[in-house]
Amino acid sequence: MNFQLSEEQLLLIDGFQKFLEREVKPLARRYRDQLIPVAEMRTIQQAMTDFGVGAGVIEEEFGGMGVDAVTSGLLQFELSRMSPDIAVTSLIQNIVGKLMRYVPDQLRSSYLADVLAVNRFGCVGMSEPDAGSQVTAVRCRAVEDGDDYVINGEKLWISNGGYSDFIFLLARFNNDPVGGLGLILVERQDGYETCDIEKMGLNSQSTAQVSFQDVRVPKTNLMVPPGEAMKTLLISLSGSRPLVSLMALGVAQASLDESVSYAQDRTQFGKPIAGHQLISAKIGEMATKVEAGKLLALKALSQIDRGERSDLCAAMSKWFGTQMACEVVSEALQIHGGNGITKEYPVEYMYRAVRPFMVTEGTNEIQKLSIGRALTGIDAFG
Ligand SMILES: Cc1cc2nc3c(=O)[nH]c(=O)nc-3n(C[C@H](O)[C@H](O)[C@H](O)COP(=O)(O)OP(=O)(O)OC[C@H]3O[C@@H](n4cnc5c(N)ncnc54)[C@H](O)[C@@H]3O)c2cc1C
Repeated sequence: MNFQLSEEQLLLIDGFQKFLEREVKPLARRYRDQLIPVAEMRTIQQAMTDFGVGAGVIEEEFGGMGVDAVTSGLLQFELSRMSPDIAVTSLIQNIVGKLMRYVPDQLRSSYLADVLAVNRFGCVGMSEPDAGSQVTAVRCRAVEDGDDYVINGEKLWISNGGYSDFIFLLARFNNDPVGGLGLILVERQDGYETCDIEKMGLNSQSTAQVSFQDVRVPKTNLMVPPGEAMKTLLISLSGSRPLVSLMALGVAQASLDESVSYAQDRTQFGKPIAGHQLISAKIGEMATKVEAGKLLALKALSQIDRGERSDLCAAMSKWFGTQMACEVVSEALQIHGGNGITKEYPVEYMYRAVRPFMVTEGTNEIQKLSIGRALTGIDAFG
């Protein structure tokens, strides 16, 4: 197994880190806990396309950069280290990019150009108030009417929802629990409405409720017909789980960096707190957890790059990486003592920003159940 990054990857990451310091850091600071307006989010996402962030994963045959999964993961890690919020928006552009191949041929070229240039934001709508872990409970309905579908329903927790110009919508076309679900492209101008949700963290990007009331969409916008959509989305999501893990670990790495310098500077009992064994051991554990989480995520991504099935490793990396990341950031807060819980120090923000990653892209409980099912052949979901 090769643990060595290529010269090209090292150069890319080095250039990207400098860019992040110069362009992303000030923006993230200015908008801490406030929504970055769509125009500024678009500008920063556009600036990152040169590095292959977001829709850089779109295959070369479709005019994209064809960035490999491992490199994409390394970029998401670095970006999240600086701003997990901006990284979430990039992640959704990345997922939208991967789903572009399902956009009907006659529509694809105009969308591709806009997604590649980040002229328009997309989002992916699966979850609903009554359909979270149990995606097959989706109620949002698409009913045939002449050459159109008429859509009614609610989507919840949709990342980039408030920014979105279009949504890849998982809707119910008939009553078959799994077979009735299809994926359809809906434009903002077709009439869906969004409302941003205030969260414990990650408030600099949009997570929205999306409402459809008699929204009329041409039948030609159908991306994946009923019966195929769940499989398509599950394959695509298994590729993004290691990215979510790396994003959480990016926050953990940032909190570790802060903790190392704090422990070197802060003196108690006549020496830097790094000289107290319990603090030194915490730092040792934190660094090991970040490293182990990264390795598992990169293994899942390298399986994807080799065209292998990665579902199992992706599920392992999602729960393990996000769990480790939350533990690491919690310890970072502890190392900072009282200062840790103040707004003056960045670890307080990291503590709030890292926690949602244990829920999004399939909760950690669901990841463990998927692993258990794959190993035993017995489903314990119901
Ligand atoms: C920041 C953020 C961004 C998101 N972005 C998107 C997005 O862009 N698009 C989208 O469609 N969705 C998105 N989601 C939604 C996310 O996928 C759901 O929140 C997630 O699937 C869980 O659904 P739920 O919140 O309804 O929790 P529930 O499914 O109600 O779960 C509640 C609790 O019960 C547990 N649980 C549920 N079923 C079982 C079971 N069978 N066995 C054991 N435990 C179980 C869960 O693990 C959890 O702990 C996002 C969520 C967050 C927090």
